[in-house]
Amino acid sequence: MAVIHLKDMAHSYLPNPKVPEDYALKSLNHVWEDGGAYALLGPSGCGKTTLLNIISGLLTPSEGQVLFGGEDVTRLDTAHRNIAQVFQFPVIYDTMTVRQNLAFPLKNRGMAPADIEARVAEIAEMLDLTERLDNRASGLSADAKQIISLGRGLVRNDVNAILFDEPLTVIDPHKKWVLRSKLKELHQQFGFTMVYVTHDQTEALTFADKVVVMHDGEIVQIGTPEELFERPAHTFVGYFIGSPGMNILPATVDGRHATIGGNEIDLGCDYGPLAGGKIEVGIRPEFLKFGPVGKNGGEGTFDVQISSVEDLGRHKIAKAVSGDIEIAVLVPEHTPVQEGAAALTFDPARTLVYQDSRLVEGAN
Ligand code: ADP
Ligand code: MG
Repeated sequence: MAVIHLKDMAHSYLPNPKVPEDYALKSLNHVWEDGGAYALLGPSGCGKTTLLNIISGLLTPSEGQVLFGGEDVTRLDTAHRNIAQVFQFPVIYDTMTVRQNLAFPLKNRGMAPADIEARVAEIAEMLDLTERLDNRASGLSADAKQIISLGRGLVRNDVNAILFDEPLTVIDPHKKWVLRSKLKELHQQFGFTMVYVTHDQTEALTFADKVVVMHDGEIVQIGTPEELFERPAHTFVGYFIGSPGMNILPATVDGRHATIGGNEIDLGCDYGPLAGGKIEVGIRPEFLKFGPVGKNGGEGTFDVQISSVEDLGRHKIAKAVSGDIEIAVLVPEHTPVQEGAAALTFDPARTLVYQDSRLVEGAN
């Protein structure tokens, strides 16, 4: 196993890239710890598969280097990088039995037959394949085949990392949950570096210790699920993580105050006279509250009209409107809320400031 270091690495599928839009991956500089469970999260087309294929060696980046444990592997092929990869769709041998499929990566490495047998039995047990070991793979359903693909990815215990590219796409929702928990368990048991690609935030947040959020060919934040929730480094992380996502509101900021659509609110920190670029305030629906309407019109209040309330069982989501600004507010289950005039309270400690989409650190 090894630390993975992406050094000034970028990739374009075009022969002569010039502008940033020509790049599927813009310049990346990141270190992924040995033994970490990482999820690569982002919408379709943001560069997840490109990045995974560069780590595995299926693709050579057009710029920069990939280092494993300090060694430059940029030009090494997959076999020499000692990587296991599981793809979105099954990659198995139909003419072989389940047992032969699982044994294949081990046989290839010249492992002793008795050791192969023991390891295959262990993986089969873990994935509920024991009963099917002697079935021919060709007769199995797509999701059973994908589980065998997962097994083939997990069977070697001498790999630098295991990479998964949306591996549960063809698996039914209930089994998805079970398999995801199994992968997490395996990670804890064996300590492989795992990189798991998904566009589904629930999948990413339940699997990973660290989530790598990608947007438009860039890694915009690497953080624990808590960090992504509490301090999104980029407005994209704010609204992509969370349900609904963070409110991102156009604002002006001066010192410890922000003005949003004519309403002034307190900020937890001092931002000085913040100018230049696009200034926005970010606050999650969880950190907003409705206060009494009676105190409206004074300083530090934010008058809104509640235009709709959606009951989601465990909580409600109210839509608050002020001029052309719309704000989602999460209201706890037993708190009354109704459409009409209200005043909104921002939690200053949870109110963040963004300049050109990037988080700005204030001073205390
Ligand atoms: P994701 O896995 O996040 O959906 P990809 O890494 O597959 O994203 O794609 C990133 C970008 O690179 C997209 O704009 C996609 O169209 C482009 N791309 C991916 N593969 C190729 C390829 N083989 N040739 C040219 N462009 C590609
Ligand atoms: Mg992809």
